[in-house]
Amino acid sequence: MSPHVGAAFADALVEAVGCALVAALADALGTALVVGGALADGATDAVVTVTVELDAVAVGTGVMSGFLSSQPPTAATAAKVSDPSKRRCKRAILANVSATANRAQARSCNSWRRGRTIEKEVRQMTTLPIVPEVKLQKPPVDSSALAYRELRGDEFWRGVPGFAAVSRETFLDHLWQAKHSITKVSKLRDVLGDRVNPSFFDDVELGIKRAPMSLRVSPYILALIDWDDPYSDPLRVQFLPVASRLLPDHPKLDLDSLHEMEDAPTPGLTHRYPDKALFLPLDQCPVYCRFCTRSYAIGLDTEEVEKVQLRVSEERWKRAFEYIASRPELEDIVISGGDAYQLRAAQLEEIGDALLAMPNVRRMRFATKGPAVMPQKILTDGAWTDALTRVVEKGRKLHKEVVLHTHFNHAVEITETTKLAMDLLSERGIVVRNQTVLQRGVNDSPEAMTRLVKRLGHVNVHPYYVYVHDLVRGVEDLRTSVETALFIEKHVRGTTAGFNTPVFVVDAPGGGGKRDAHSYEYYDRDTGVSVYQAPSVKPGQFFLYFDPLHQLSVHQQRRWADSIQVDFMVNDALLKARQRLR
Ligand code: SF4
Repeated sequence: MSPHVGAAFADALVEAVGCALVAALADALGTALVVGGALADGATDAVVTVTVELDAVAVGTGVMSGFLSSQPPTAATAAKVSDPSKRRCKRAILANVSATANRAQARSCNSWRRGRTIEKEVRQMTTLPIVPEVKLQKPPVDSSALAYRELRGDEFWRGVPGFAAVSRETFLDHLWQAKHSITKVSKLRDVLGDRVNPSFFDDVELGIKRAPMSLRVSPYILALIDWDDPYSDPLRVQFLPVASRLLPDHPKLDLDSLHEMEDAPTPGLTHRYPDKALFLPLDQCPVYCRFCTRSYAIGLDTEEVEKVQLRVSEERWKRAFEYIASRPELEDIVISGGDAYQLRAAQLEEIGDALLAMPNVRRMRFATKGPAVMPQKILTDGAWTDALTRVVEKGRKLHKEVVLHTHFNHAVEITETTKLAMDLLSERGIVVRNQTVLQRGVNDSPEAMTRLVKRLGHVNVHPYYVYVHDLVRGVEDLRTSVETALFIEKHVRGTTAGFNTPVFVVDAPGGGGKRDAHSYEYYDRDTGVSVYQAPSVKPGQFFLYFDPLHQLSVHQQRRWADSIQVDFMVNDALLKARQRLR
């Protein structure tokens, strides 16, 4: 580019950056800066022509064009140029020699002393903001694509007959929420009245009889259910079993499919991964989820399951703490349950302080479903939220990480109240991560999962994991296949930043731990058998996951009813996995 530049440019250039800068500009660009024409000292009507040779320099014509109009210098500019030091500079430029050769003269200029600073300015100048034309590569976004930001702030609970007279203030009180949680079908009938068909209650009653989890639903969740269509509602599906939709269990599933008890050195403490342990201080939750992996212990006994007892116990906690302190490799402790929401503020702080005092513990995560089912508690239970804040702050001072892990499964669970609660935690510097369970009829479509992921990001919750549903008893209707997980993952990835995109994992049955769903050694989509390994957790072992039978062809379902065929399918998958590893 060799534009002939008018006097205004020369003046502006010298005035703006000093003559040394002009010399340095040429220097920095490795080109000659040549100034032609004449400028009488102090003359107000001089015409200057500047030729700037710019080799492959990112100075756009848009920037230069502002200088290209050849206008006589103004009186003010001329007065400034008449300054003796600037005159010398200008003469140096006008000497019509290369800037490199002219450096000795330039050094005599006052401004040259600015040395490297000026050179930096030159570089900045050469990268002056370019204002390129805006290319309309993408069509304007449709407002529906931003619907994930629209959170419910209406008094939605008034649609439930039993809550119709409840004020906003009352509904936002966590004590009211806990007290009015639904724990019996009779209570459900009282609250819903004639809002739903009476046959629905009978269906729930029968469903509960066959469920491994007892019933507990917060008013918040109950009021978010679409009672015009409860059978299809993603929240009803998670918390209220209906017998008419239950399916027979897969022949290979187990009550404690993850073998948490087998890997527990002391009751309520699972040590499976090299540096991580799972501490279960209690067995109570603010709600009971149908899909719970820990149905062997959590909640009240049901007709189907007599629970392992993991009640709050000083003695049990003490043994767990002693074990953690005795294992220097343990750095990361998950405090789950049960649910940290059900810990009293003092208990939460006691656990936090005990673990933070151990030099080996570097990271802690308090796990709670609470924000998804009763966000009110964070806003109105000041003692609990303050206790959590103190533990997090104490951890920060000790350079240890303390975060909250939660469990949203559907975008509908996130309302304006959730946002207020998450905003409060955010203001207090508390990081919140989310673990979702992939469930049929809840979030098993790219659209549902994408909306959840985007909405989580909107309320400052980091989408961390999506679990392929564990092989647990009594909830076969909720499970999906590994193939479904891979399909959804493919669509979710790319919709938002990578760090905000959840990893889809299979928690390998038998205690292999979480494996990236893609990392199977072998996967037979026809039989639904996938084979994983966990070399750093249990080297040499194979872990099998089984897709739900309802997603297989009728022919394959028949094979699963035949024990000889079952053995054949399993052995065939293991053989092929071994062959691939050779
Ligand atoms: S909150 Fe967690 S531990 Fe409690 S029932 Fe639900 S999934 Fe199980």
